Amino acid sequence: MNKGLVFIVSGPSGSGKDTILAKLFAKCPEIKFSISSITRGMRENEKEGEKYNFISRGKFEQMIKDDELLEYNEYVGNYYGTPKKPVISATEKGDDIIIEVDVNGAHSIRNKLTDAVSIFIMPPSFAELKNRLSGRGTETAEIIEKRLSSALDEIKRATEYDYVVVNDDLDIAVDDIIKIIKSNHLKLKSQKHIIDEVLEKC
Ligand code: 5GP
Repeated sequence: MNKGLVFIVSGPSGSGKDTILAKLFAKCPEIKFSISSITRGMRENEKEGEKYNFISRGKFEQMIKDDELLEYNEYVGNYYGTPKKPVISATEKGDDIIIEVDVNGAHSIRNKLTDAVSIFIMPPSFAELKNRLSGRGTETAEIIEKRLSSALDEIKRATEYDYVVVNDDLDIAVDDIIKIIKSNHLKLKSQKHIIDEVLEKC
């Protein structure tokens, strides 16, 4: 059996990556999602264990000490980290898993999992990004400013990724990600076992 693939998805806050991923998982429920452990407060529309496990700084720091995280980063004053175990067990079972992280997290994962495929989700323009962030109504003006400035820094690092998906039309963006996943399964390193099987039986 082939190992599952790891797909890293990043994009600035307000790029629409959550909406894209929700639609992707509705279309492809077999793909796993890496639930991050984070120390920021829960937003109204969020549920424990759906996208994030909301934990204390103390518990997070213990996870760092116990080497339970594949990567972690501090973003706008809070810790965000990817637990190692679920990623390893998904890929060993042959399942694909999507890890949604910021650009620093993506950089760390690429260094550790060299076969991971990375996808950057771009907003169609900075003006649209600003609109989406201020229209969300869940954050203060100060936090929105910090998120905008962090968004600019992240967009500058989009060149580190294997693929860029522009979120102008939601359905097209979701289909683009499905195409990326499929095409990576068609690569030689994912298909090698089939060639070997055919050759063994001839
Ligand atoms: P938000 O607070 O808007 O949910 O997320 C803020 C940023 O943290 C986003 O860029 C998101 O991709 C990133 N993020 C979410 N989970 C993780 C994680 O486990 N590790 C890292 N490094 N970043 C994460």
